[in-house]
Amino acid sequence: MVREELLRLRASAEAEAATLAESLDALFTASRDSNADDEHDPEGATIGFERAQLAALLATARERIAEVDDALRRVDTATYGICERCGQPIAEERLAARPFARCCIACA
Ligand SMILES: [Zn+2]
Repeated sequence: MVREELLRLRASAEAEAATLAESLDALFTASRDSNADDEHDPEGATIGFERAQLAALLATARERIAEVDDALRRVDTATYGICERCGQPIAEERLAARPFARCCIACA
């Protein structure tokens, strides 16, 4: 059940990353084609800002995928739901909110 939830999270993070990567590609192409000058052209500055935002979102989505993969590994080794620091079980509410949590609330 946890595994399914994690796989579902992974799929949605992957879809998000793919969409973001595509938007980022489109922006790169757009800024190259328009020959935008990032410093002096207001439109170029907007593209630069959007690009930075998309890149940050993409990094977050990829981090999420890595976190979920890590949680899946813990499911496989039966250490899922156990705090990495103190070895105590992680509270169910915390796992419900953050299925990929590695530490209990006290250690986080
Ligand atoms: Zn702990």
